[in-house]
Amino acid sequence: MIQKNLQEVQQKIEAACKRSGRDPKEVTLIAVSKTKPAEMVSEAYEAGMRDFGENKVQEILAKSQVLPGDIRWHMIGHLQTNKIRALLGKTALIHSVDSVRLAQKLEEEAAKQEILVDILLEINVAREESKFGFFLEEAENAVMEIKDFPHLRICGFMTSAPFVEDAEKNRDVFKKLNNFYVDMKSKNIDNTNMRILSMGMTNDYEVAVEEGATMVRIGTAVFGAR
Ligand SMILES: *Cc1c(COP(=O)(O)O)cnc(C)c1O
Repeated sequence: MIQKNLQEVQQKIEAACKRSGRDPKEVTLIAVSKTKPAEMVSEAYEAGMRDFGENKVQEILAKSQVLPGDIRWHMIGHLQTNKIRALLGKTALIHSVDSVRLAQKLEEEAAKQEILVDILLEINVAREESKFGFFLEEAENAVMEIKDFPHLRICGFMTSAPFVEDAEKNRDVFKKLNNFYVDMKSKNIDNTNMRILSMGMTNDYEVAVEEGATMVRIGTAVFGAR
């Protein structure tokens, strides 16, 4: 079942790439396994998946202990500062850096552990009160502050678009973030490595890919409803 779901999602990603003249190799599928048991992650792993998304540090730690070491774990949920120490070194990419204060704490711990941590800045494009992240108009200042933290490397941006019935309604959100991403990339800012635009979930990933996503985070369409 999971294998078939993965194939369907991959096919839809490829079709969206074709429609927008993109190379499907530019888009990485992250299977969001939050709340799902390690057995289901294992099934997806057997089908070839290596990138998995989780929104809780405890779940990354528990699953990474029992699953293969070549899995790349993506932290996609709000990160509490008291969990940073446990997380660092266990994750390939933190998508959800949503404040300068959090970046500061990450820098301090990364310096202690003497590691370089790849991060994305989370952007609340639609300015939803229920969501974390920088507003778009704050984002450039955030980049300029955080780029100076020597143990962090900003690799791009992440957003979760509003929940909508019709994915077309989110097209503008994705366009806006892509514009900002392309603009930041073109500035070749020191100590950054802008190459990732993480946007699109089960309900809207095809539109996100058409608008430039390089990572999509898909839970329900891969593992079923939570
Ligand atoms: C849960 C979650 C997803 C996946 O959502 P689905 O709608 O199940 O695909 C993606 N991104 C974030 C940040 C999430 O918390």
